[in-house]
Amino acid sequence: MPFDANGWWTEAVNYHDKRFRSPNFYSGNKGRLAVVLHITDGTDSRGWLSKPLSKVSSHFLNRDEGVYQLVSIFDSSWANGIWEPGHAWKGVADSENPNKYTISIENEGRPKKALSAKQQQQLTALLQAIAARYPQFIPYRPGINLLRHTDISPSHRPNCPGPLFDFARIAAAANSVTSAPPVVPTPPARKYRIKPAIPGGYVQVRQGRGDGYPEASIAGLSARLRAGEIVEIDDVTSGWAHLASGLGFIEAWALEVAVGATPIALPDDLLIIGSPSVGATRLRRMVDLCASRRPEAERDAITNAISDLAAKANISDVCILSQAAKETGNFTSDRYTKSYNFAGLGATNDGAWGSTFDGVYSGLRAMIGHLLNYATTPEAMTQEQRLIASFDPRADALKKAHGFGCAPRWVDLWQKWGVIAPPKVPPPKMSKDAYGMSIVIRARSYLEATQ
Ligand SMILES: [Zn+2]
Repeated sequence: MPFDANGWWTEAVNYHDKRFRSPNFYSGNKGRLAVVLHITDGTDSRGWLSKPLSKVSSHFLNRDEGVYQLVSIFDSSWANGIWEPGHAWKGVADSENPNKYTISIENEGRPKKALSAKQQQQLTALLQAIAARYPQFIPYRPGINLLRHTDISPSHRPNCPGPLFDFARIAAAANSVTSAPPVVPTPPARKYRIKPAIPGGYVQVRQGRGDGYPEASIAGLSARLRAGEIVEIDDVTSGWAHLASGLGFIEAWALEVAVGATPIALPDDLLIIGSPSVGATRLRRMVDLCASRRPEAERDAITNAISDLAAKANISDVCILSQAAKETGNFTSDRYTKSYNFAGLGATNDGAWGSTFDGVYSGLRAMIGHLLNYATTPEAMTQEQRLIASFDPRADALKKAHGFGCAPRWVDLWQKWGVIAPPKVPPPKMSKDAYGMSIVIRARSYLEATQ
């Protein structure tokens, strides 16, 4: 009994033929705080609710023959008029339009005549489908998230839906299934922290994996998670993390280090050659975390290229990802998005743009080739390593400035990676801000976040 990706109920009688879909709605919504029940006080309202002239609509129309859906649940139907003095529902401020926060169900019939048994069953099924889509309706609570039209418009709609609607019974019937535990087993929840330095100080929780989905809400307010707040996550897919509480989804880039996780031992003086890899499956989860702004196909390409090249080069896939993410600003820099140059190869302070590659694979191959030339010498390389190193566009410059094999450990890259002249003063290479050290530290956070 699901809703499709555009917010249409697949069980609606007009789902396939789309008859009576209404043009009367506001595009989008400002949250889903309550379901409002109505009675049409008429015999066939399909035409009225779906013709432009009427300027009214409802998301659903519950008739004896079945339920029609007139407006997508992602949009706001014109069902509730406006606030009238003395309104009982206080879920949103009086300055707000209640239609933008509610889903409306018209029930065809008369206020003084009870709904048919079939309509009652359909109403229960529809409420359950809505709750399956929006967990804030588990459970339904009359007067709070399950309303009468008269709770909004007491003057003009005192009898909508009328005294024969037993809200306690309607809620109990809808809750009888929606409160049951989910049948699909979920992986154990993991604790994460919202990054302390989030722009704006919070992340928005959404009802689906994408900015286009409506905001989730909690206790009548738009659901936001504060910077530094600790959350439980049970799934990360396509760059979006699902909250184990069921509240909704947040963008995975906003998360950091699993709280209470056992630290993985990547020593400060980790060697570049022979450093440990995690494999493509877990690497993909890390790519989802740090490259969440990039399209899914590109995250696939990054994962596959790093997995393949890391194995051939015998360099940690996590550290390669860490270096590429650091160099590209989590895969958002112009130099990366326009040239697939993962590490500023050939770029200089005086404005040289640097090398250009034809894709993710060749860009990463050049970066890893360059890394190999820092970490070891051509004589010490395996055949596969030597092949990758042959794609380093900066091999000659490196050889001249520092010599091949000048940085066997990640920390040794300090003041050497991308720097032509050797520094005069010995650098604080173990500082957390030092180049190679920061790559190791970043790699540790990826490991901890994906345990
Ligand atoms: Zn009404």
